[in-house]
Amino acid sequence: MEQAFQVDKRDALNRAINRLVGEKDDIDDDLRTARDKIAELEKEATPAKQKVTTEEMARLTALRCAHCGGSHTIACPRVKRIRFRPDGQSPAETEFWADDQWPHDDVVWLETLIVEDA
Ligand SMILES: [Zn+2]
Repeated sequence: MEQAFQVDKRDALNRAINRLVGEKDDIDDDLRTARDKIAELEKEATPAKQKVTTEEMARLTALRCAHCGGSHTIACPRVKRIRFRPDGQSPAETEFWADDQWPHDDVVWLETLIVEDA
């Protein structure tokens, strides 16, 4: 009687273990599927490059800013403060905004462009 009870307990334990192993496999499959889906969405979310002419690219490249690496005609939005040397030309000290504190959209990023002459 006692032995039969032990066997029942062991069978129940084995069933529970098998069920949990099966559930873990299902979860692993779901995670793999989710990871594939995320990779797919990230690929789709990569913005298409904006087309510019060789001339526009040359103009924007000439404007490329030493502070932010982008191109803009206004003062660099990344720069918070510049202290110039007495000659008034070369900066002695430049203070930048934190990366989340300046408007990246005010700058044209050359990496987002593709030259395509009409
Ligand atoms: Zn800049």
